[in-house]
Amino acid sequence: MRIEAIRVRRFTYSTRTSRDSDGHAHPGPERIVTNACLTITADDGTEGHIIAPPATVSEPILDAFIRPALVGADPMRTAQLWHRLYKAQRGSGALLTDQVLAAVEMALWDMVGRAAGQPVWKLLGGYRDRILAYGSTMCGDDLEGGLATPEDYGRFAEWLVRERGYKAVKLHTWMPPIPGAPNVQMDYTACAAVREAVGPDIPLMLDPNHWYSRADSLWLGQKLEELGFLWMEECMEEASLSSYKWLSGNLPRLNILGPETMTGKYWTRAEWAAGGACDMLRTGVWDVGGIGPALKCAHIAEGFGMSCEVHGTGAGNLAVCAAIPNTTYYERGLLHPFLDYDAPPAYLRRIDDEMDAEGFVHLRDTPGLGQDIDHDYIDAHLAA
Ligand code: MG
Repeated sequence: MRIEAIRVRRFTYSTRTSRDSDGHAHPGPERIVTNACLTITADDGTEGHIIAPPATVSEPILDAFIRPALVGADPMRTAQLWHRLYKAQRGSGALLTDQVLAAVEMALWDMVGRAAGQPVWKLLGGYRDRILAYGSTMCGDDLEGGLATPEDYGRFAEWLVRERGYKAVKLHTWMPPIPGAPNVQMDYTACAAVREAVGPDIPLMLDPNHWYSRADSLWLGQKLEELGFLWMEECMEEASLSSYKWLSGNLPRLNILGPETMTGKYWTRAEWAAGGACDMLRTGVWDVGGIGPALKCAHIAEGFGMSCEVHGTGAGNLAVCAAIPNTTYYERGLLHPFLDYDAPPAYLRRIDDEMDAEGFVHLRDTPGLGQDIDHDYIDAHLAA
């Protein structure tokens, strides 16, 4: 089996999610946006697909790096092909990002699963076939009845738990450019309102502003200890390993989770684990360069007796969650009272992470990564 062709289809669809000036997602007026589907085809006709951010699979990147490395190669050798791309990163002028590696590697895994007639999560070991999800909210906003006040957070969290079946909730609180943000007192009042609304038995987590000082982070962390939160993530610049060591050492009753957006794949995660900079390790297929490196992070964490919590949604992250024993939840979102997360976008027949009334996301038995892509829709809505 040899890789014969690599193509990308850019297509349009409508969304009710908008981005603020700092890149945070909020509900907004309906608008048309562009997405991309990367497809790798083998000489026997087997295909592997991944929906990916258009910038990660641009034609210049495919031409300069991906096609020369992959065309003619055996697609089953995902580790060899990933390493080929990893070694090309240094000389790529920063074009060959970890996200590019992730997109290509996940399309390869989709192909491997289809060729084997097996779901990827089983090929990775298949530790579990379902996992509890936590409801991960959007960042705070200034929309009336949205996520504008602590009471809004409390009301929404209560709905997530009592009506939708979530067994855990994570808040993203207010970030610039929302007026008054960032502010640890505001964050605390939202967290306290959610604890009050869902009661003492629902695990809660916080992902606040990412550039608080040590003093603000400690103050907020001590408040979360009082509220019995499970973890806090990325409250400071993650490049400062020393700051996270200091914070973890000063918060005996709150788990610090990280690093999430810090570069350096599993090498950075190994430094955090060995350095005592976190209590739980963070990974995510789009953060560390794909499924293979995300699993390595989980193995590092396991060797340190730590859980590895997977960042973000989608079939690739779900496969990693199912493959490893040392994780707690699947992150499902981002959620907002004005948006229906369960309604698939036009290019999917089903969302990747359908959840039952008990809060479990079930892994699919279909061959490949488990995305249910509507290729007819994509072909009919190709972008210019
Ligand atoms: Mg986060």
